[in-house]
Amino acid sequence: MNSMKYYLTEVEKSTFKGVVQKNLQAKRDIIKFMVVNGSCTLSHLSDQLNMSIPTVTKLVAQLQADGIVVDNGKNETSGGRRPNLYGLAESTIYFVGVDVKHRSINFALTDLNNKVIDMKREKRFELVNTPECLEEIIGLINEYVENLPLDKEKIMGVGISLPGRINSASGYSYYYFNWTRKPLSEFLGEQIGFQVLIENETRASCYAEYQSGNWEGVKNAIYFYLSYGLAVGISIDGKLYYGKSGFAGELGHTPMYDNEILCQCGKKGCLETEVSGLALERQMRERLKEGHSSLLSEQYNQGEQITMKDILNAAAQDDVLSIELIEQMGEKAGRAIATLINIFNPELLIIGGRISKAGDYFLLPAKSAVNKHSLSLVNKDSEFVVSRLGDEAELIGVAMLIRKRILEI
Ligand SMILES: [Zn+2]
Repeated sequence: MNSMKYYLTEVEKSTFKGVVQKNLQAKRDIIKFMVVNGSCTLSHLSDQLNMSIPTVTKLVAQLQADGIVVDNGKNETSGGRRPNLYGLAESTIYFVGVDVKHRSINFALTDLNNKVIDMKREKRFELVNTPECLEEIIGLINEYVENLPLDKEKIMGVGISLPGRINSASGYSYYYFNWTRKPLSEFLGEQIGFQVLIENETRASCYAEYQSGNWEGVKNAIYFYLSYGLAVGISIDGKLYYGKSGFAGELGHTPMYDNEILCQCGKKGCLETEVSGLALERQMRERLKEGHSSLLSEQYNQGEQITMKDILNAAAQDDVLSIELIEQMGEKAGRAIATLINIFNPELLIIGGRISKAGDYFLLPAKSAVNKHSLSLVNKDSEFVVSRLGDEAELIGVAMLIRKRILEI
């Protein structure tokens, strides 16, 4: 009996030759066809994969015996002789998504159909660029996987989203943990024992948004991602735009201010120094230091860290200082969005990332600044929406991406 993992990842490495190898490859093709197209009849498989009906029948029966394919009964829609539909059994394989944020780490388990089976969010964690932190991440991933109530053989791979510049194809990270000689994805894969894909958090969340239907029928869209950092996802003519090396969309590092504030990237005055979660935290600390009062004053006075999440929660509880800071950031973000609108003339502007939790406190000043600073002829084309997936998008997106990588779809 062969497992799904065997067909998807091991068949090519098998030492079988001739007919045996050919049959294994054909079964693998049947599985992949079903991943993309769902349940289908034997004659449809035979047509699409160019195999004879007897061959398809034999191979599908073997896959059924392996527990990989199930008979889903009669095809209700077709007239006359109704053939049976065959599809992939549920719970044959799973994927793990890990979203590493500046102040938390989040985990999800998804199945073959991208359905979220388990989610563990907001585990407190501090992202720093040190070997100890990388060790901690590896430990936390191992702990999450260990505690999942399923056969580890069924986990096909782990997708990890990180801030900073990442080349997902090569597996190298250029900011966090950039000292591993091998690609970071390969290094992590060896440490945790699964195939690993790494992706930048903006692109992971952008991909989830793109797949979730928000963009259906939309050809030109901008995904404005504001969490601890700031970046944009760009869809042009219905396709995500990556640039030559996958670094397109680094809006946060546009030199926008003469504020002498050092950005994470090493330069000064980047847009991100005023419009980002890190900027929001800094602004809050500065105000509290000056003696302004807030629901967060006590936390500050006790020397505790104040996070973007704390500020968003305080705003939701009508904290005036938090609301003011979010509104000011909304206005500045609106100017940046106006620039994007003038350049790209998008149909849709999606506000995503952690800031989407701020709702109108952020959106209204942002929209007002867009109206003020972009060309009205251009901005009247652009509809504003808030991400449906909110701050789960990175996690879902990166699990979808490892699935896509493994199934080669
Ligand atoms: Zn920068």
